[in-house]
Amino acid sequence: ELQVRKIVAGYDSVPVLRGVSFTVPHGSLTAVLGPSGSGKSTLLRVIAGLNRPIEGAIVVDGRVLSGPRVHVAPERRRIGLVPQDAALFPHLDVLANVGFGLPRAARRAQGARDLLEMVGMADYATRMPGELSGGQRHRVALARALATEPDVVLLDEPFSALDAALRAEVRGQVRQVLRRAQTTAVLVTHDQDEALSMADQVVVVDEGRLVQAGSPAEIYAKPVSRWLAQFVGGAL
Ligand code: ATP
Ligand code: MG
Repeated sequence: ELQVRKIVAGYDSVPVLRGVSFTVPHGSLTAVLGPSGSGKSTLLRVIAGLNRPIEGAIVVDGRVLSGPRVHVAPERRRIGLVPQDAALFPHLDVLANVGFGLPRAARRAQGARDLLEMVGMADYATRMPGELSGGQRHRVALARALATEPDVVLLDEPFSALDAALRAEVRGQVRQVLRRAQTTAVLVTHDQDEALSMADQVVVVDEGRLVQAGSPAEIYAKPVSRWLAQFVGGAL
């Protein structure tokens, strides 16, 4: 379980998040939905430990990772972040990218192969990142994030580089991978269809504040404001 408690965070003295709270139950997927500039990537950076919040706490399975007197380093959080640009190591092939950071050579090779299978990229093991499409790179980045068996996986706009036809397919694949691995996941998107179709819970943010949190059905059928109704294209 991931708890985001009253997070206030920003850059230098400029506040971006102004008190955001929600809980992601173990093994479920929460989509954070909001317009460009609303603070979604900043929120993931706070959860991953790359940005230290001014106020609030990040707690995973009862362990405080960020708090008033606590800041666990990113590499000690057991959190996998797939950043917005899904950067891979350009000089390593796909298999080596996924195995990077895994402890032993033997485990590395087999574990990495299994993960590539899971994300539908087994045939691309010896390709270089430069030879992949944006969506393929994202799937490899996801496999790499899962390789360390993190407690929480964070996905920043994972499908924005895909064309509409591929998007639906890759969404389904990623959803299945996360379910099978029983991973607690947060996916950030400005695409309402993506949030509503994939998530167990949708958290809507605007200008650094939480607008509404609920199931996709609740958000769609009972948006709390006219702005949100228009944003999700639902009732009103
Ligand atoms: P998008 O959907 O476009 O990716 P976002 O919701 O992820 O947007 P953030 O990247 O979290 O938004 O940015 C929120 C605000 O913080 C923006 O006003 C942005 O200009 C500012 N910001 C982001 N990164 C930095 C930074 N490194 N230094 C200063 N300000 C930043
Ligand atoms: Mg962003």
